[in-house]
Amino acid sequence: MKELSNVACSVEPSATLSVDSLAKKLKAEGEDIVGFGAGEPDFETPDNIKEAGIRAIREGKTRYTPAAGMKELREACAYRLKQDFGLDYDYKQIVIGSGAKHVLYTALTALINPGDEVIIPAPYWVSYYEMVRMVCGHPVIIRTKEAQQFKITPEQLENAITEKTKLFMLNNPSNPTGMLYSRDELKALADICVKHDIYIMSDEIYYCLVYDNKKFTSIASLGPEIKKRTIVVNGVSKAYAMTGWRIGFAAANPEIAGVMGNLLSHSASAPSTISQVAATEALTGPQDTVEAMRKVFEERRNYIVERMNKIDGVSCISPDGAFYIMMNIKKLFGRNICGHLINNADDFAYAFLAKGKVAVVPCTAFGTSSFVRWTYATSMENIKKGLDRLEEFLKGEQK
Ligand code: PMP
Ligand code: GLU
Repeated sequence: MKELSNVACSVEPSATLSVDSLAKKLKAEGEDIVGFGAGEPDFETPDNIKEAGIRAIREGKTRYTPAAGMKELREACAYRLKQDFGLDYDYKQIVIGSGAKHVLYTALTALINPGDEVIIPAPYWVSYYEMVRMVCGHPVIIRTKEAQQFKITPEQLENAITEKTKLFMLNNPSNPTGMLYSRDELKALADICVKHDIYIMSDEIYYCLVYDNKKFTSIASLGPEIKKRTIVVNGVSKAYAMTGWRIGFAAANPEIAGVMGNLLSHSASAPSTISQVAATEALTGPQDTVEAMRKVFEERRNYIVERMNKIDGVSCISPDGAFYIMMNIKKLFGRNICGHLINNADDFAYAFLAKGKVAVVPCTAFGTSSFVRWTYATSMENIKKGLDRLEEFLKGEQK
């Protein structure tokens, strides 16, 4: 038989989803695994949103909507962008997709020609790298260190730019690092992008999960020149615990939004109408559950950071937002733990799952091999159990 697409065949499966399904499979087989794989809020979708979805079914809102999404939802997205960041978008500049992941992919398809360079700061969310390759773009990675809070400097951005650079992928706050760029830091990056006429994909899916009273700024709000080059990507998965409803959105200049709408008209015909109605309620209804969940995440972060830093051999810096911790495991390299020689993040994650019965994501998939990622989008009980098991696992060192 003839061969499949070269590009498609070179794509790796998502490491976050793979770890998650492996942990779930082992659990289903009766293993006592504690999962810190995929970052997915462990809260229920708030009742008012669920009810809106149920009403949509009862009221017969079960037909196609326009490809870029129903007007009410696009207006609701524009309303939130105005309320939360002071950003003005007409509803026609908003495009709805089946989750932020789908929106990111559609935006990349709209922007990238084969060979265009896309700058991605590392550690990066695993899907950015593969999605850029899926649209035949060329990922250009900027490495960052823990000592610089995993944030790129303006000099690093400037040095990575070539004539082929089309786009800069920004994830603020970041998955997997949890770090937040301040307004001043964003301004410096924005100025460079405007100077070189580069688009910015600003993935702001974790914008409402920011701790220590820090303030989130949307890079698009820093002036008209940066706004017209920015594709703001957001969604309801994290803020409203709606991962399974699959609604994300982009806000962009009319040209980009129009091209994305055309692409969606042939590839998706809009996400589920029922989910769109529920997401409209999420964005326009009471917002108190968002803050309640944020507070719980902050308490969990405080606990995990404090305890992890007391455990010999591992450490972490305190993330500003999102729900991930990057655990530094460099000190463990060259050691034999529970019969497994640890030389990188994959070795650690494998051994920790096999012997410690805890699933974490090796950051190799995020562009660095000295860290593993834990998510604290899980109960305090699980977090305590996971850290207890880490202590036990590390006691299994063989000299
Ligand atoms: N961007 C980032 C950085 C993420 O971590 C996620 C998590 N899945 C997404 C986008 C996609 O979210 P969803 O497709 O569930 O809206
Ligand atoms: N974004 C989450 C994570 O990084 C969910 C899994 C995924 O979509 O990749 O774990």
